[in-house]
Amino acid sequence: MDAAACVHMEARGDVCVITIDNPPINATSLAVRQGLMAAIFDFKTNSDFQAAVIVGAGSTFVAGADIREFGKPMQEPILPEVIRAIEDCGKPVVAALHGAALGGGFELALACDARVADAKTVVGLPEVSLGIIPGAGGTQMLPRRVGVSRAIRMICGAQRISAKEAKSLNLLDEVVASDVLDAAVALARRMQGKKCRIRDEAVPAEGPALIQQAAEDAMRAGKRRPAVEAAMEAIKSAAVLSIDDGLADERAVFLQLRLSREAYALRHVFFAERDSAKLPSELSATPIPVETVCVIGAGTMGTGIAISVLDAGMQVILLEQDAAALQRGQDRVIAHYRDRVAAQKMKADVAQAREACLHSTLDWADMAKADLVIEAVFEDLAVKQEVFKKIDQFARAGAVLATNTSYLDVDAIAQATSRPQDVLGLHFFSPANVMKLLEVVRGKDSRPDVLATGMALGKRLRKLPVLAGNHFGFIGNRIYNAYRNQCEFMLEDGAWPEDVDASLKQFGMAMGPFAVADLSGLDIAWRMRQAQAASRAPGVRYVDILDRLCEAGHLGRKTGAGYYTYVDGKQQPTTDEAVRHIIEDASQRRGIQRQPLNSATIQRRALLTIVNEAARLMGEGVASRATDIDVVLVHGYGFPRWEGGPVFWARQQNREALTQEIKDLASQCGDGFVLADLSVLFEDQ
Ligand code: NAD
Repeated sequence: MDAAACVHMEARGDVCVITIDNPPINATSLAVRQGLMAAIFDFKTNSDFQAAVIVGAGSTFVAGADIREFGKPMQEPILPEVIRAIEDCGKPVVAALHGAALGGGFELALACDARVADAKTVVGLPEVSLGIIPGAGGTQMLPRRVGVSRAIRMICGAQRISAKEAKSLNLLDEVVASDVLDAAVALARRMQGKKCRIRDEAVPAEGPALIQQAAEDAMRAGKRRPAVEAAMEAIKSAAVLSIDDGLADERAVFLQLRLSREAYALRHVFFAERDSAKLPSELSATPIPVETVCVIGAGTMGTGIAISVLDAGMQVILLEQDAAALQRGQDRVIAHYRDRVAAQKMKADVAQAREACLHSTLDWADMAKADLVIEAVFEDLAVKQEVFKKIDQFARAGAVLATNTSYLDVDAIAQATSRPQDVLGLHFFSPANVMKLLEVVRGKDSRPDVLATGMALGKRLRKLPVLAGNHFGFIGNRIYNAYRNQCEFMLEDGAWPEDVDASLKQFGMAMGPFAVADLSGLDIAWRMRQAQAASRAPGVRYVDILDRLCEAGHLGRKTGAGYYTYVDGKQQPTTDEAVRHIIEDASQRRGIQRQPLNSATIQRRALLTIVNEAARLMGEGVASRATDIDVVLVHGYGFPRWEGGPVFWARQQNREALTQEIKDLASQCGDGFVLADLSVLFEDQ
């Protein structure tokens, strides 16, 4: 698009309305910046105009920068030049905001002399979530209005705040229920002859303790990432430097960070998330409308799924086999909403409306009203097949039928019905009302519109739906299993659980694998291992430490001991003697002379295993895009977002060396470690 098409001008009497028209989000692309420069110049030099309004066309103001430009050389005019032109044009400029004013869009608004917004507008400077800091004055303008501590919380926390809150912080002049452009034009007219530049204001004085607290909170919440720290320093400097020195420093840091590996990784995840929600073109179909969802099983997952569906404004029929379990499930949902109200995160009338959409029942006939059924009963094929036989009997013709199984064969479940084409997997993660990831599992008979309905539901629940093939563990659990096995090999080879956990946390994993195992309970894995024992091939390396722990009553946190010991619920830093004996005994039985493993080795072995398994499942068609694997690992398994996911990580390595390293590793891991062709991870980069 050229500059003239992206930015147009129109006279409303003596007010010049400058419209940014760059769908879908009116990003501050080069053509927009050029158009704005030309428009500001025309406005400044045309004596018919006394004031101007900047507004966005379509559904939003400027919701951010054009992220595709980030990895490329900067082209002028850059946004700070546009901002300087607005500040120096000599006549008042008002920003008319609707939708979102984020990042560069909000900086543009802050450069204006006043801001009017409609009530649904959100504003913020979330640049740190892309590994950069605001680069067009955000770190200098925001503290001049809200103070240093508040600016730290907003910028370092990548907060998006409502118009109401922004008005209370003096970031907006008016919030209107009427037409925002009309209100902005009226205000611009009233401001004739006045400039109110934030750059000329002083930073309000604040006690150092407040700033210190905000900084500590921000660093902790922001995992001490470089962009968070740099943003904090830039904001603090606003109180001591002149605006021009502060802007120069901010810009220098912005330019440096935008080319960093971390920013590149975060942009990769941003694009991967956007792509993963799209079905491949051969599966494109119109989703089936869903307004009522029947959730079967009111346990941990069923209640989380019910809350998520209620939050999206749909009706939920919660169906159980057991009256007491149904009551417990219903109580959990209601307690959730009561807690939200008590914490002032939800208004009481909203909570009541959500609760009113929950219909708990023991009667299968009630399922007839559902457009979509989600089964979340025990993870047992026979139980699920029995449940699907009943679903087939009671669900209306054309309803979409989903299973929330973590590992089981979706086709075997679908075959229990007379309509396998209507069946798919919807694999939610725990807690289902919090976790954003949703694996949409394609059975061999699943119709495209059924899959499209799963993807559409995911988006409506504000989740990240990712298509997965129907293989044991789908994408996420399949890779996690391989990773867990490798971590167990390392225990047998010489590491202790705390070594493995600490090294992987140091890499950035949200938790170590043994702490995770203790949290979810070792008995679940134990049961699964017992079920698989008969099918285990002789050459496959099998570590039985977990089995021995379970036999000794170490079932994890819930029994006060697993890989770790828990005192008053607190994990002890090292494994106790009994556990060490079990581990040493396992090494001895395999004839291994235990050798300590350093952190780099532990991280490398874990990552190589993840990458190999990712390539294997790509080769088998379980994932349709390599980058989907990154979305799954980042959102479902605590893989550090700033490392971009395992596929991004692999692409940063030397491919030949990586292949050789994986070969070497495979030789230590027995027949179970099947070498993959890594080339599938490097296609379509
Ligand atoms: P849970 O034991 O907490 O709940 C299961 C519920 O299903 C129980 O309330 C039980 O009474 C009910 N139920 C059993 N048979 C039924 C039947 N025939 N009809 C109606 N209700 C019946 O289990 P959960 O942890 O919620 O797991 C449910 C499913 O979700 C499993 O397939 C599991 O693999 C999957 N899953 C679990 C997690 C997790 O972290 N817990 C994560 C993802 C997926």
